Amino acid sequence: MLPFFLRHNISMKDYSSHIAIIGAGISGLTLGCVLQQSGVQVAIFEKSSTASEQGAGISISPNGLRILKNIGIENGLRSESGNPKKIQFFYEQIQLTSFPINIITTSRQCLYKHLLNKFVSLGGEVLFDHEVLNIDLIEPKISFANGKSLNVRHIAACDGIKSKCRSLIYKGTAQPTYSGYSIWRGILEKKQSDNHIHLGPNFHIVTYPISNDRVSFVAAIKSPKEVIESWKAKGSYQDLCNDLPKSTRSIYESLQGSNEIYKWGVYIKEIPAQLFDNNITFLGDAAHPMVPFLGQGGCMALEDAYIFGKLIVLKSDLEISQKLYQKLRFSRVKRIYKDSLLQGKLNHISNPFIIFCRNFLMRYSPVAFLKPYIIWDYDPDVEIKKIS
Ligand SMILES: Cc1cc2nc3c(=O)[nH]c(=O)nc-3n(C[C@H](O)[C@H](O)[C@H](O)COP(=O)(O)OP(=O)(O)OC[C@H]3O[C@@H](n4cnc5c(N)ncnc54)[C@H](O)[C@@H]3O)c2cc1C
Repeated sequence: MLPFFLRHNISMKDYSSHIAIIGAGISGLTLGCVLQQSGVQVAIFEKSSTASEQGAGISISPNGLRILKNIGIENGLRSESGNPKKIQFFYEQIQLTSFPINIITTSRQCLYKHLLNKFVSLGGEVLFDHEVLNIDLIEPKISFANGKSLNVRHIAACDGIKSKCRSLIYKGTAQPTYSGYSIWRGILEKKQSDNHIHLGPNFHIVTYPISNDRVSFVAAIKSPKEVIESWKAKGSYQDLCNDLPKSTRSIYESLQGSNEIYKWGVYIKEIPAQLFDNNITFLGDAAHPMVPFLGQGGCMALEDAYIFGKLIVLKSDLEISQKLYQKLRFSRVKRIYKDSLLQGKLNHISNPFIIFCRNFLMRYSPVAFLKPYIIWDYDPDVEIKKIS
């Protein structure tokens, strides 16, 4: 938790020349770092009382790592995370294919900690216990659940999948809908050096190291039965076993007796045609929550934040920055949003003949790694240069 003076120095301060970032998550903290590094006045408003304490895992692929490197936290994060060198795909416990990777797999808690520490070390200010309730885009002005109202220069909506900002501005496209997938997660106390993906009809299981002796376990189930969207909803080991075939039990049996097994529904939202409106810009899941099957939601949040921040610094004019942000981000996030849905379908195929074809292609062609490599190749600085 931040020291008292950082959490409560809010009473009389004027924020009318600040960029107000809503949400101290992946996109909010990253944007905060980029702006603070260049001396742009910025403050982050977060509804919770502390930074996230999520123990769940997250993998950051090379496109996201490029950004963490640029803001100066890649090495620190790497030293506390899993650094798998290879990804291996299995079907019925038999390896289909594998390819080399350069990614960081870590806990969300660790990623948030490094981003927050960086922002604070740059002199950045996070105002916790500030839940946005209303927005007036004309002034612009934000009203909070704690009774405060503040005039600001611009609003960067980084408030995640349940974005209040988005529901206030884009009423029609704001409601998340159940994607048809639910997810089990837990942490296995063991050592594992590589990423493993087990494909099966109507499910797949992903495990990766998040430190020397802890492994993130995620099992996605294709199921029409709607499950609530919550990081905190617990499930039982028995229900987990019921959802997966017996042959996979050896992967997660150390969760037996654990009180830390969670189940939640994966939700998505339509991407609005425009990622900004008058005086407000949407980033990360507030703009485009996607199914997690390419592991790109957090990386898109990093890319959005880095690019929007750099554009604000380069152009000084917020309207121009918003238009360029739209130009650079819309088609990429839309493509990856669709590709993630397609990947979900490929991972959960149940027709035996199509499974045979998919597995054959994975074994004997480069199909499994072509798509990730194309996505991972993205360099935001090169993209910004192209339009400057
Ligand atoms: C099962 C699963 C696995 C995933 N795995 C990966 C992966 O391996 N790699 C990857 O890149 N991505 C992954 N993702 C996606 C990734 O977690 C999200 O895309 C990412 O966290 C989005 O970042 P964000 O900054 O938009 O939102 P968040 O990180 O969710 O931050 C939103 C912040 O806004 C705050 N907030 C919300 N409402 C308000 C309000 N009204 N006022 C003030 N503050 C508010 C919240 O408290 C929170 O701190 C996964 C997602 C799921 C569901």
